[in-house]
Formats: sequence, structure tokens, C-alpha cells
Amino acid sequence: MNGNVTISRRVEWDMAHRLGPKCTTKCKNLHGHRYVAVATLAAETATDLGMVLDFGDAIRAMKGFVDGQMDHACMVDRSDGALLGFLKETGDKRCEVGFPTTVENLCGWLAERFQEAFDGLPGSQERGVRLVGLRVFETPNCYADWTRSS
Ligand SMILES: [Zn+2]
Repeated sequence: MNGNVTISRRVEWDMAHRLGPKCTTKCKNLHGHRYVAVATLAAETATDLGMVLDFGDAIRAMKGFVDGQMDHACMVDRSDGALLGFLKETGDKRCEVGFPTTVENLCGWLAERFQEAFDGLPGSQERGVRLVGLRVFETPNCYADWTRSS
């Protein structure tokens, strides 16, 4: 039947963050989450076996970024000088970003990072492998969705 097939791969990591003084709820406090991201991919051309992308390659690309940059790190908005200063002083792992660390902002930013990681896989760009959707859970009940708009 006509239609498009996508595949999805899930990855998890632990990370701290805070929304800081501009936030008036409990999320202003430094705290951590077990984040979960589910990346959905499509390809212009499937592999000879009919795959969008081998699941092993997909998770290798995703975990390479997640483990290197975010797992057991504190994600910090560069404008949060107090927290950034503390992290620099202690040498604790940090993931610096230029936005408040809401799950909505994280989702859009991570979509770009994941696409870059998939682009680095052999043959991926030639076959037009594209991230078409990304869901990031901040808690088991709360998540944000990014979808490709073009
Ligand atoms: Zn939080």
C-alpha cells in the first residue's frame, strides 16, 4: 500500500539541569531526570535489505552523542552564570547550551545534533536518511515532540 515507512530507536541518559530564577515553579531548582529520547527516521532510498537504517548504526550514532555530551552531565544555559561558574570550578561534566533548558528547547536542539550524527554514518547522506521526528521524555509522563517541517 502507498505510504512511508519510518523506524524509531530509543535512548536513555541521566542529566541534571535547572531553569533558574526566571522560573517560578519547582523546576527552578537544580535537579535531575532520567531522560528518554525516541528518534524516528525515514530514508529516500532503503538499503538492499529494505532497511531505513540498521538499528545498530542508529543507536551507535545516538549513543555516541548522548554518552559523550549529556550522560551524567549538567545541562547549563550559558546565561546562568552562577551554575556555569560552579561547574567550571568543580570540573563536573557540563553540557553548555544557549537556551533555557526546558524539554521543548532540548528537543529541537537534540534533533539537530542527532541529524549530524546520522549524517556521519557511511552511506547515510547518499540514501537521504533523515530524522523526521524526535520525542524527548523529561519524566515518564511529560514529553516534547519535534517534527521536521520541510
Ligand atoms: Zn527538570
